[in-house]
Formats: sequence, C-alpha cells, structure tokens
Amino acid sequence: MKYTSTRDKSVAIDSAQAIVNGLSPNGGLYVPESFPRLSEKDFGTLCEMDYPERAAYVMSLYLTDFTYEELLSYTRQAYARFYGDPCPLVNIDDGLYVLELWHGPTCAFKDMALTMLPHLLTAARRKVGEKDRSLIMVATSGDTGKAALEGFRDVEGTDIIVFYPTGGVSDMQKKQMMTQEGDNVCVCAIEGNFDDTQNAVKAIFADEEMGKLLHERGFKLCSANSINWGRLVPQIAYYVSAYCDLLNEGRIELGDKVDFCVPSGNFGNILAAYYAMRMGVAVNKLICASNVNNVLTDFFTTGKYDVKRDFHKTISPSMDILISSNLERLLFEMSDRDDKLIAERMEALKKDGSYTVTKAERNRMGALFEVGYADDDATRSAIDASMEVYGYLMDTHTAVAYNVWCEYNNACPEDECPTVIVSTASAFKFAADVYNALTGSKKDKDAFEDCKKLASFTGEEIPEPIAALKDKRIRFDEVIDRSGIAGKVLEFADRMAGKN
Ligand SMILES: *Cc1c(COP(=O)(O)O)cnc(C)c1O
Repeated sequence: MKYTSTRDKSVAIDSAQAIVNGLSPNGGLYVPESFPRLSEKDFGTLCEMDYPERAAYVMSLYLTDFTYEELLSYTRQAYARFYGDPCPLVNIDDGLYVLELWHGPTCAFKDMALTMLPHLLTAARRKVGEKDRSLIMVATSGDTGKAALEGFRDVEGTDIIVFYPTGGVSDMQKKQMMTQEGDNVCVCAIEGNFDDTQNAVKAIFADEEMGKLLHERGFKLCSANSINWGRLVPQIAYYVSAYCDLLNEGRIELGDKVDFCVPSGNFGNILAAYYAMRMGVAVNKLICASNVNNVLTDFFTTGKYDVKRDFHKTISPSMDILISSNLERLLFEMSDRDDKLIAERMEALKKDGSYTVTKAERNRMGALFEVGYADDDATRSAIDASMEVYGYLMDTHTAVAYNVWCEYNNACPEDECPTVIVSTASAFKFAADVYNALTGSKKDKDAFEDCKKLASFTGEEIPEPIAALKDKRIRFDEVIDRSGIAGKVLEFADRMAGKN
C-alpha cells in the first residue's frame, strides 16, 4: 500500500516514510492510495480476536511495510498500559451504546493512538534509515499533549516538546502536563488560544530555515498531531472492533448498519469512523457533534467552511477548535480525490479564512453525515440527564455527543439503527464541570477536591492516573508568547543534544 498526498497525487511513498514525514512537503496530508476491504471471512477472524490482535490486523492492511507480528508486538505493549479492556462497548439503553476510549494512561481517547505512535515511529525510522533524532513537536488543546508526552517519554531516539494555550485547558489537564516525568520531555504554555498555538507550531513545521537549524543539531521535526497517518490508523481499529463486539453479542448481523456519534474537534476521530466504513463496516450515519465552536456544523449545513468567527472557550476544551485539519482528508474523498482543488481550497482557507464546496460534494456529505452542536448549558443538561436516565456518568465532551444524538433521534425517529456514542474522556478529567452539571455547586480551588466530590456523589472510582497526580512535583510552569516558540524549540534541541 502506497501513500499519496491530498494536495499532490504524484506522491507515492510507503507508510513508514509517511509516518516519519508527518506532513507532505507541499503541506498536504498523507492518505492511503486505496481502502482495503474487509471480507466476511475477515470479520469472522476479527470477531474471534482480542483487541490488540484486532488492532494489529486492521493496521496491517494499511501498513504493508510492517508485518502483522511486528504490529501485534506493538499493540500488545501499547494496550497493556491500559486499565482493563482498552475500549469497552457499554450498553446503556435499548439500541444505545457507549464506546469508552479513555481507559489508557492519560484518561482520554488520544491514548488509543498515542500509546501506539512511538512504536510505529521508532520502527518507521529504522525502516527508512533515519539518522537524526526525532523531535516531536505538538500543539495541544489539552489531551493530545499529555497523551503524546506519556507515549514518547524516554523512548529511544526521540525527544518531545509540547505547547498548550495557557487559558485553554482544564485544571486537571494542566496539572497532568506540568508534572510530566521523563528525561526527553519539555512542556510550555503559550499566551493565546489553541488555534494561535497550532498555527505557530504549523509555521515552524513549514519553516525550512528551522528545519536546517535543527538538522545541524541532529534532529528532524516530527508531528504527533492527528495530521500524522500513524495517529489515525490505530483509530480505525476501534470502530471495526466495536462492530465486532455488536456481532459477537448478537445485537446485529453482518451487514446491519449502525450509527456512530462522535464528539469532534480536529475531525480525526470521526474521520477514522469514515475510513472504517470504507473498509466495510456497515454505517448508516456518522453524527458529527460540536460545541459552540460549531464551524463543522455550519460547514456541513451550508457548504462553506468559514473560520472568520469568534473563538469560544467552553467546558469541552478539547473541541475548542476552528481549523479542523483532518477535514482535508474527507474533502479529498468527497471531491473524487481532486488534489488541485484541495490545494486551492486550503490556500483559500489560509488566505481568506474560508472556502466553499460544490453542491455535489455537499450532497455526498449530507447523505452520510449528520451534524449538530451543544452549548455549555445543553452539555451540562446532557450530563445530568444521562445520570438520571441511565445512571451513566459522562464527561463534558461525551455529553456534547449525547446531546446532539438526542436531538437527531427526536428529529429522525425512523432511524432504528443501533447507535454507538463515542466517549472520549473520563469524567474525572473534567471533574469540576461535571460535578457542577450534576449538583450545581461551584468549582473547588483544588481540582482534586472536585474529583473526590464527584467520586463520592456518583460512587465511581477516580482513575488511577488522575489520583496519582496529586503527589507529583510541578516540573514545567513556563508561559511564553507564541513568538518565542521557535527559540524554545532550539533551546530544547541544544539541551537534548548535550545530553546524548
Ligand atoms: C481530541 C478530543 C476530541 C476531538 O477529537 P478530534 O479527533 O480532534 O475530532 C474530543 N474529545 C476529547 C476528550 C478529546 O481529547
């Protein structure tokens, strides 16, 4: 299987090279040249497997320059870091399921991919003969940063630097990053919001001079954001796996359609659901749920993607995003892989802050995707309702999806397909807002007090990685202006070069 670029179809490289590069040199994103199809026999095999085997099986169809055995050894190591089943499918009501993706080391769904990526990247570096150390640079709205830090800490041949918007993450997310352990890590807060931070980081990736300066120091920049194919491919697996679980439990027969409802920001998670569908998972609707940063809702409704709007800070901060990078990969498919058109649109987005798709593309998207958004009040009500109706505790992001699904279900009662709501974080990661939604009481000064209160109110246990944070030492408390990011990266590279 070769990989091409959404902005230049003449590109054809192996998956290892795509993972090492992260972003295609012309700014496009790497996509597989075609989608492998799962046969009836494949589904039969997958249904018999445990999660690490399923994940290795699905990935091996895309990463054909890796062997199944190789991938299985990585998935076994990655998912051994989870607490119990890596992605249990919980039945909360008749025909309604929650796919819990937050049982990993940082309690958010990013762990599903970021425990895998370091294994994929180190192997990929070996395969392409990369001599430079990989310097992982991440812009995060909270969850990616911590998951990447945990994934890459003390991994041979790699160093990692993470930037987050200082006011744009939850107290617990901040605490998780400030206390990060490991000898090859650096964390820095940036004045501004996530898009400012992401744009500054993207500019460094695109800066040839920076590339040269880093190469002189023995480093190659690498992305752990979901623009990297190595981040996306592990995510396809849990959609296939959820479908297998429904088959195994006798809830559906092979070929029966299901709906997936996904709380979305950068559009990586729901794109993986789309790819699973292209592989043969029977999907009726993909429901894309946003918070009030509802640029995706508007885009699917009007056909115009327009970032010229106010940025809102919400109680679901990991979805406070206006530029959904992975949408580019969907547009590539919806336009029948028209690389020139995608390049033009992405240029327009950069220059004018908007672009518009054709009627045909809009119809195509509309046939598969449903969209909706929930503001903070609706999100809080959804948390409360889920507890009340199902006795099920949701975090703020999952609650956005639940709210949007409820609206869809009311509007389209004729859709009787089973629905899987994708749950992206533990409620304890956003304990203050979840507790507030359930009881109306105000946030505590100490984030751990909110966790304790939430635990005693719900009878749920505080996940181990969050409970353990309390006694960890703060290592990184620097806040800088985004103009200082490049300097910080070079300073870190020098320090790491000195160490090795
Ligand atoms: C990252 C994240 C999302 C958004 O996922 P995308 O792949 O960026 O669309 C939703 N919820 C949580 C908790 C997240 O960390």
